[in-house]
Amino acid sequence: MSDRIHCDKHGETKQTMVCAHIVQTVRDKEPRGFAWCLANDGFLYADCTSCNALSSDEWHAQADENGRILCFGCFQEAASLNGVALGDQARSYLQ
Ligand SMILES: [Zn+2]
Ligand SMILES: [Zn+2]
Repeated sequence: MSDRIHCDKHGETKQTMVCAHIVQTVRDKEPRGFAWCLANDGFLYADCTSCNALSSDEWHAQADENGRILCFGCFQEAASLNGVALGDQARSYLQ
């Protein structure tokens, strides 16, 4: 699968999909909420609190503009900045 990206900080990792605000959290270390899931398509997704509060229609309307690819290492950093433990499900993502 070509689902790997190169991160300057974490090297080559698997990619995840997040909202732009979570990318912002990785940059400025400011927690904005972290609602994550392992989707049926096998991708890890995470949204901040405000994006997670959108209705499904609203979410899809903004997803193209607001969606970002993030490396798995940065995804973990954003989770821990928000005090969220990813657990075994996410750890198995790397295998
Ligand atoms: Zn967001
Ligand atoms: Zn990274």
